[in-house]
Amino acid sequence: MIIAIDGEASTGKSTQAKKIAKELNFNYRDSGAYYRALTLYLIQNNINSKEEIPQTILDKILIEQVYKDNNLIISLNNEDVSKKIRGYRVSIKVSSYAKKSEIRNFVYKQLRNSAKSNSLVIDGRDIGTVVFPDADFKFFLFADSKVRAERRLKQINDKSVKLESIEKEIKNRDNTDSTRKIAPLKKADDAYEIDVTSLNINQVFNKILQKINSR
Ligand code: C5P
Repeated sequence: MIIAIDGEASTGKSTQAKKIAKELNFNYRDSGAYYRALTLYLIQNNINSKEEIPQTILDKILIEQVYKDNNLIISLNNEDVSKKIRGYRVSIKVSSYAKKSEIRNFVYKQLRNSAKSNSLVIDGRDIGTVVFPDADFKFFLFADSKVRAERRLKQINDKSVKLESIEKEIKNRDNTDSTRKIAPLKKADDAYEIDVTSLNINQVFNKILQKINSR
């Protein structure tokens, strides 16, 4: 069984996906974390997003996700990069790498392999539209960009970071993600959409769970 939770940046998709996975005793995959870990590797190795990325390079990259006790650990070539991939440096670059077909195919393979042996909750941008168009349940989360930036700022808890710069980063990312040629960010026709602007974590969780239980 596959539950897809897609949506705009910083709408709490991964928080919800983890909670649903825990509730249903499913495994969890964070598709964005694959793109982030790939981006980290490529910037560390000075590989520009404007160039085609050769398979020989991609073959050197091993990304693993282990979900346990409501916690996801992401490793890149056996190094725990769970924190590093959330930094500003990766955030501002990830969308330009995620546009590329060779990068997307790398991630699709990982996700589809994981689904062979697990029931999964997966969060992302194109899970319900492209990666698993036959997913059992599809959700699409969106919210006002200022509210998303405020929530992100609270999470970061760093006074040197400005609200405006977070909002700009989120908007830029959504813009690049939704206008790209391959697998753009958009709601699947059969996805259940939730405006999370004025809802808290538990309210969104209850809506998702209700929908799943109603079938
Ligand atoms: O989910 P998260 O915000 O960590 O995703 C980071 C970036 O990875 C997105 O802005 C997008 O560029 C890319 N992404 C994607 N397709 C997905 C998940 C993430 O292109 N399914």
